[in-house]
Amino acid sequence: MRISHRLARGEGVRESFQQQLGRLFELLIQALETGNPEWLDPLIASWAEARTETDLGDGEQPLVIILNLILQISCEVARENLPPAEALELIQGLLPVYAHAVNSAYRLEVEHKARRISRELEKTKQALKRLEGNRSDFISVAAHELKTPLTLIEGYLAMLREQIPDAEGDPQTRVLLQGVQKGTRRLQEIIDDMIDVAMIENRLLALNFQPVWIDRLIEMVIHEMSPALQERQQTLELIPFEGMHEMIFGDSERLYQALRNVVSNAIKYTPDEGRITLSGRLLPGFIEVTIQDTGIGINPEDHAWVFEKFGRLGETSLHSSGKTKFKGGGPGLGLPITKGIIEAHGGAIWIESEGRDEIRCPGTTFHILLPLRKDPPDERAARFVGTE
Ligand code: ATP
Ligand code: MG
Repeated sequence: MRISHRLARGEGVRESFQQQLGRLFELLIQALETGNPEWLDPLIASWAEARTETDLGDGEQPLVIILNLILQISCEVARENLPPAEALELIQGLLPVYAHAVNSAYRLEVEHKARRISRELEKTKQALKRLEGNRSDFISVAAHELKTPLTLIEGYLAMLREQIPDAEGDPQTRVLLQGVQKGTRRLQEIIDDMIDVAMIENRLLALNFQPVWIDRLIEMVIHEMSPALQERQQTLELIPFEGMHEMIFGDSERLYQALRNVVSNAIKYTPDEGRITLSGRLLPGFIEVTIQDTGIGINPEDHAWVFEKFGRLGETSLHSSGKTKFKGGGPGLGLPITKGIIEAHGGAIWIESEGRDEIRCPGTTFHILLPLRKDPPDERAARFVGTE
C-alpha cells in the first residue's frame, strides 16, 4: 500500500500498479524460497518493454530508481513491523534479489532505449532522404516545365520581330523588344543552371574531354565580361602565370562556365571601381587559377555553405534580374555548379577571405585547382563522382 501510494498517483493508475506490485511480491517470495533471483526476470522484462513504449523524453523515472524505491520502502516496512532479527534476515534475503533485478532492469532499459533511438534515427534519415530527393526532383521537373513555355515565348518573340516592320528602326519598339529578350535570356540562364544542378546532384554530368588551354578560356571570359566591367567601372587584370599556356584535357565548355561563374560573382560582389585579378601558378600535376577581387568578402563560416545549392547569403530583397549588378543576388546555383564541374575534372575549389565587410571590402580569392591531364581519361571516370 505504501509503495503504491508513493509511486502511483491517481486512482486508475494505482489499481493497475497494485496488480503489478502483487505480481512482483509473488515472484519475490518464489525467488527468496528458491534462492534464485531469476524468477523476477520475466516481470522486469515486461516492465522495461512497456515503459519504453511510452515516449522517451516524457520525464518518467527509470525503472532502476523505481526498483530502488520499492526496496527502500520494503525495508522500512520490515523494520517497522518485524522484530529486528527477522527484519534483518528478510532484508538480507531481499538484497541480492533486488541487486539482480536492478541489473537486468538497467541493461534492458538501456537496450530498449538504444533500439528505440536507432529506430527513430533511421526514420529521420529516411525522411531526410525523401525530402532531399523531392527537392532534387522538384528542381529538374520545374526546370523542364519552365523550358517549354520559354521556348514558346522565344518563338513568338522572333515572329513578332519579323511581323513588325521597322521594329529595329523605331527606338521605342526596339527598347521594348530588347527588354523582353533580356528577360527571356536571364530566365533561360536560370533554367539551365537548375538543370545543371540537378544533373550534378544525380551524378549525370558527363564531361566531353578535349584539349583545353586555360589562357584561352580566361580570354573568352574576359571578353564576355567586358561590358559588365565597363558598366561597373571595374578593372580586370590578368597576371600571366606559368602553366596558363599548357594544354590540358578537360571539358572546355564546362570549364568556361565554371570560370565565368566565379568571375561574374567577383564582379557582382565588388563595388564599382573595384579590381579583379586573375592569376595562378603551375604545381606538380596541377594548374591553379586564382580569381581575386576587392569586394565585400565572405565570412569564414560561410566558405563551405556558399557551395551548397541555394546557399546564397544576404537578403532576398536584393535579388536582381542582372547577373553583375552590385550584390544583385541570384538563385545561388552558380557556385554549386562550378564546384560540381571542377570536382568532376578531379580538381578542387576553395575560398580565401578574411570575412564579410561591406565598408572595408577585404576581398575574396577563389582558388581553382585543375589536374594537368595530358590524355583524355577513361570515359567512365569522367562521370561525376558525387560529393556526398
Ligand atoms: P547565381 O550565381 O545562381 O546567379 P549567386 O551569385 O547569388 O546566384 P552563387 O554564385 O552560387 O550564387 O554564390 C553564392 C553566394 O556566395 C552569393 O550569393 C554570395 O553571397 C557569395 N559570393 C560568391 N562569390 C562571392 C564573392 N566573390 N565575394 C563575396 N561573396 C561572394
Ligand atoms: Mg553567382
